[in-house]
Amino acid sequence: MVEKANEKALKDRLVFLENRLEEYKDSGLSLNMSRGKPCISQLDLSDLILGISLPDDISANEDLRNYGNLQGLKELRDIFSDIISVPSDCIFIGGNSSLSLEYNILSSFILFGALDSSRPWKDEEKIKFLCPVPGYDRHFYMAERLGFELIPIKLNNDGPDMVEVERLVREDVAIKGMWAVPKYSNPTGSVYSDEVIERLAKMYTKSPDFTLMWDNAYAVHDFYDDVKIASIVELCEKYGHKNRAIVFTSFSKVTYAGASVSAMGSSKENLDYILELMGMQMIGYNKVNQYQHMKFIKDYANLRGHMKRHMDILVPKFDETLRILEENLADKDIATWSKPRGGYFISFDLNDLSAKEVVQTCEEYGLILTKAGSTFPYGIDPDDKNIRLAPSFPEMEDLTVAMELFTSIVEYLHIRRLLNGKI
Ligand code: PMP
Repeated sequence: MVEKANEKALKDRLVFLENRLEEYKDSGLSLNMSRGKPCISQLDLSDLILGISLPDDISANEDLRNYGNLQGLKELRDIFSDIISVPSDCIFIGGNSSLSLEYNILSSFILFGALDSSRPWKDEEKIKFLCPVPGYDRHFYMAERLGFELIPIKLNNDGPDMVEVERLVREDVAIKGMWAVPKYSNPTGSVYSDEVIERLAKMYTKSPDFTLMWDNAYAVHDFYDDVKIASIVELCEKYGHKNRAIVFTSFSKVTYAGASVSAMGSSKENLDYILELMGMQMIGYNKVNQYQHMKFIKDYANLRGHMKRHMDILVPKFDETLRILEENLADKDIATWSKPRGGYFISFDLNDLSAKEVVQTCEEYGLILTKAGSTFPYGIDPDDKNIRLAPSFPEMEDLTVAMELFTSIVEYLHIRRLLNGKI
C-alpha cells in the first residue's frame, strides 16, 4: 500500500516518466538487443584471416583443398585442447557452429544410441533432459523439438542445484542427459564451481548412457581474469564415467560469428564413436577455414591477446548497461540483475512486474528484446520475471538510449502498478 505522503512523489515521477516516454515515441527508435551477436568492430578484429593464403608447400598427403582428415587439423586441435582441457587426439573439429554439432550428437543418439546405450534413444519410451534455468533458448528448443521432456533445474551462481540433480538422475532412468553452459552461462553469467563439476562427474545416474552436453561456448570470454574451470572429461574418467561428457565450443565469438570453426571433445573411446558417426555424413569439414583459423589464432597465449581486444570493446558496453540499471533502478525494490565477469549477457529479474508486459511495451517503443519466457523450457517462465539483456551488438550511443528507455519503461510500469494498488 502506498502512503499518502509518498503518493504525491510517485505521481510526479509517473508524469515525468510519461513525458520522457512520449519523447522516445516521437523519435521513432529502432533498436535491437535481442541476441548476443558480436558488433561490427569486434568482427573487424579478425579480418586478417581473409588474407591468409594456403602454404606454398602443400604436400600431396595433406592437401588442404582435398578430401580427407575427418578429425580436423592437428595444430588447430592443439589450440582447442588448451581451451577445453581435452587432449587434442580426443577432439573433433566441426564447421561454423557448435550448436549444429550438438544437434548432430543428439540426433545420432536418437538414431543409433550413445556408446553406453543398450538401444537407440528412439526405442526408449521416454527421454527426459535436465535444463538449468534460466538458460539458452536454442538448447531448450532443440531438445523439445527432438521429443525430449524438459525438466527445469535451478541454476545458482556456482552451477545447477546439485542436490536436485543428484536426486533426479539417481531415480529416473528416462533422464538421459543435461544441458550445461559451465562458464559465463547464457544468460546468468554463472560459472560452475570445481565442486559442482566434480559432483556432475561423480554422481550415480540410473541411466548408464546419461550424457552431459557440456557447451563451453564462453570458454575464453573473460572480462577480467583468465578463469579456468575444472576439466569435466578428466573428472568423468577419474570417476569411471568416461563417456559421460561431450564438450562443445567454437570460435563464433572469437573470430567471425557466421564463419568460424567449432570443436567437440570427449574420451578417446567416445571420440572414436563420434568419428564413426561423423564419417557416415562427410569426408571432412572445411580444412581451408581450419588452416586460416589455426594461422590466425596461433596459440593459446595469442588467443588471450585477441580476446583482450574483444573485451576492450565489450566491457565498456556491459559497464554502461550496468551503470544505467544501477542509476535508474537500484534500491527501488523493482528488479535484480546479474553482474557477469564474462560472456555475452545480463540476466534481469523483475520482482513483481510481468516480463512479458515489459518486453511488449519496449517493442511498442522500438526496442526489441529477447522474447520473454525464452530462457525457460517450452518458452514458459513460470514466474514471468526473467529478461535476457544482450549489450554486445548495439553501438554505444544506441545502447545508452536503449537502456535509458528500458529502465524508464520498467520504472513507469512499476509506479503505475503501485498507484493502482497492485503491489
Ligand atoms: N551455445 C551457447 C551457450 C550460446 O550462447 C551460443 C550463441 N549464442 C551458441 C552455443 C552458438 O554457438 P555456435 O555459433 O558455435 O553454434
